[in-house]
Amino acid sequence: TPTDPRVVEAMLPYFTKQYGNPSSIYKLAQEAHEAKEVAREKVARILRAKPEEVVFTSGGTEADNLAVKGVAYANREKGNHIVTSQIEHHAVLNVCKWLETQGYEVTYLGVDKYGLVNLEELRKAITARTILITIMQANNEIGTIEPISKIGEIARERGIYLHTDAVQTVGKIPIVVDELGVDLLSLSAHKFHGPKGVGALYIRRGTRVAPLIHGGHHERNRRAGTENVPAIVGLGKACAIALEEGEEETRKVKALTERLRKGILDRVDDIIVNGHPEHRLHNTLNVCVEHVEGESVLLNLDMAGIAASTGSACASGSLEPSHVLSAIGVPPETARGSVRFSLGKGTTRADVDFVLEALPPIVEKLRAMSPLGKLNH
Ligand code: PLP
Repeated sequence: TPTDPRVVEAMLPYFTKQYGNPSSIYKLAQEAHEAKEVAREKVARILRAKPEEVVFTSGGTEADNLAVKGVAYANREKGNHIVTSQIEHHAVLNVCKWLETQGYEVTYLGVDKYGLVNLEELRKAITARTILITIMQANNEIGTIEPISKIGEIARERGIYLHTDAVQTVGKIPIVVDELGVDLLSLSAHKFHGPKGVGALYIRRGTRVAPLIHGGHHERNRRAGTENVPAIVGLGKACAIALEEGEEETRKVKALTERLRKGILDRVDDIIVNGHPEHRLHNTLNVCVEHVEGESVLLNLDMAGIAASTGSACASGSLEPSHVLSAIGVPPETARGSVRFSLGKGTTRADVDFVLEALPPIVEKLRAMSPLGKLNH
């Protein structure tokens, strides 16, 4: 998302005028400290958490690493088993894979055709050695929203920590950590009009988490290093704006995403819409365009001035079909035609209509040329 100009404005003084190191004691430093703590309150407010439960990080990836490795390390004597899903972001999946090389065991739950984890399978996966369940709140590729509060009930019953990667949901849908029943929750500012390179991990009071970065006593000994005050102020401002304006934005973006979905289905044949029809993010539309390569569609869209993605932005460039689409059972040849559109508060009806004009001739041209082309099948 573009950084909201009001966020930029809030950040600017902390580069040049209010540049104090928040750990120092002079007035300038204390002002920076104060700004950081006000930002913490704003982050806490969007989660309905307590400010002391918020730890600032360099983004969603670090928050996920701190949650999963931090719990794994701190609770090693209790157990070595983690339950996650096959459709997590790589910031969780690759942490789990790495932990497997360090003596931990991980169960990767499958999902149904919509991307939902099965609660019975989750129950069955839990053992006496399970220390953590980590399931994302909404999937970044297909937008499916997982039943986190139900998972929270299971985690509570069994006395296991629950982490959710909420990078795709914070700032987009209302979140109440107690209703979700989570002990840890990751968020990232650049997904909701804040700056890149800053995020936070919510850590419920009393949760045992080992720090990953050792050094000074910053962030209550949970994350050492001089804090990035301008970015943190930006994150706080983005949270405040999202809380105030989120509902209206949701309504608007939802209608535009629906217009795009219907428009594509009307204008292009052999389209598969991925993700859950109801339990989904309002701003993400992932479709498989049969008989073409998604990458070719993207390049052509880009030439028309339209920025879209295939699977995950982080995975593009890899020739493997998306792990998320594979997990929901999309055959590899279909998954290769995946195109993901993400809408936001800056998206207009004219933008959507522009895509609807541009896409059909692109698909037609590619289908005529492509070795995967329908005519050549
Ligand atoms: N988790 C999810 C679900 C994401 O979509 C992303 C996006 O990039 C991340 C984690 C990583 O966050 P960041 O880019 O802030 O490191």
